[in-house]
Amino acid sequence: MMSTKPVILFIAIILSFLTSRAQEILPVIKGNVDISIKKGTMSCDMILSNLPNTDKYVIRLNAGMNIYYFKDVKRGPKPLFYDVDKRDSVQTDESKSYYVHENRGNPARYLPQELEVKYLGMYPVVTDSTSGYEGEDWRGNIAFNSFSIRADGFQSNWYPVLYDISTKKQYERLKYDLTITCEDCTVLFVNGSVPVKAKSAQFISDIPRELAIFCGDFETAQHNGVWLLNSGMKKEDQDKLYALAGTYQAYYSKKFDIPYKGNLTFLHAATVANPKEWGFNFYADPTTFNVADGEYSLASFFNSGNSTKNKQSMAHELAHYYFGTLLKPGAEFGHVMEEGFAEYLSFYLTFNLEGAAPYHDLLQVKFDRLQNLHHYKPFSLVKTEADYGNREYYLYYYAPVIFLAIQKEIGEQVMWRWLKAMVATKSDRTDYNLFLDTFNSSVTDPVLRKKIIGNYFTSDNALQNAKDELGEK
Ligand SMILES: [Zn+2]
Repeated sequence: MMSTKPVILFIAIILSFLTSRAQEILPVIKGNVDISIKKGTMSCDMILSNLPNTDKYVIRLNAGMNIYYFKDVKRGPKPLFYDVDKRDSVQTDESKSYYVHENRGNPARYLPQELEVKYLGMYPVVTDSTSGYEGEDWRGNIAFNSFSIRADGFQSNWYPVLYDISTKKQYERLKYDLTITCEDCTVLFVNGSVPVKAKSAQFISDIPRELAIFCGDFETAQHNGVWLLNSGMKKEDQDKLYALAGTYQAYYSKKFDIPYKGNLTFLHAATVANPKEWGFNFYADPTTFNVADGEYSLASFFNSGNSTKNKQSMAHELAHYYFGTLLKPGAEFGHVMEEGFAEYLSFYLTFNLEGAAPYHDLLQVKFDRLQNLHHYKPFSLVKTEADYGNREYYLYYYAPVIFLAIQKEIGEQVMWRWLKAMVATKSDRTDYNLFLDTFNSSVTDPVLRKKIIGNYFTSDNALQNAKDELGEK
């Protein structure tokens, strides 16, 4: 019996190797964050764990943060030597890129299994945007305006964000366990959790989320799991928004035959820029950040010229419950599925619930912008982000247009058979094979199957084929 042991061990090693290769790495962040919205300060002590095994990496952190120390938690309390990597050319303008040393005598980069970073930052508190502040605001800004702090994760990197140089992957979406304390706040909110009315609270998410935050002194409202933070909306508009979200959720639930779950959040943060008649939105799934005033603000959701687009954006975000939460991207092509099908579904919903006119208006915008997409590969050849030509146009314009053309060719019924087949896998490693396998099992006519794959999956002319099919210019 003894002799079988090495074999079992060998098999176990192979199995663990296979599973570790197969599973997407989901890093975890745990820590304490102390904020003062009146002073513009953030003091953080964070531990990153479940990191990929690599020594080709940088840790990106907002350039306004001062490092107290880096530590290898498993090695002990001694701080690590570290450097700034000035060659990280793809870092955001907002961040600095760090790496820690193996030891004092060896500046080679290594990544501890559990990396602790303690740091502190102080930022301008712009109480009045006309007061002489430089006058700019943007997604990656850590914005204090005396009654709130707003910060995204993707661009501001207010928390340590690992960038794996070999795989070109930035890990801003993390599972988290954070304790946030803010003595001058009344509401604390971390993306992916529900807001808490307290000066200190623990937030835990088992779903990796971008750690975008909005904490301060503002009103909150909630109905059927849809949250509004600092919305500034009239009561009747709030009710309209809840009703709209409810209608859209019910529509998807019925189509997929899977009840919608999730906490959509819409928040409004006043811009610290001047002039104020300006704004922007960004999404940190499942939250819409509206940074604007006047006609671009959440308060104008229904009565501005943007209301068609606003509704379609909501439909896109809701669709992410199916493509994004139930189905999670594994390989790069998984992102084409996640964003492309969310956008496709928002167009499908717009056509069926809002009508043909808004649908065609929105589709025309897609065709116009797609003139700027160049040097990209067909679906079957997407391996890295470079194959998109342009990530935004490929994921949000090209992919949904192709899916709409496929729907027209195979018919709605078969299209839904395919959509449901994909979602039914509940895979956290979606890739081109899953896309193709489910397509093949859903489309029974072999001639049609071959035609679609040839015209849209593998062809360099897929976009022109889609334009011809959809009859748009
Ligand atoms: Zn999306």
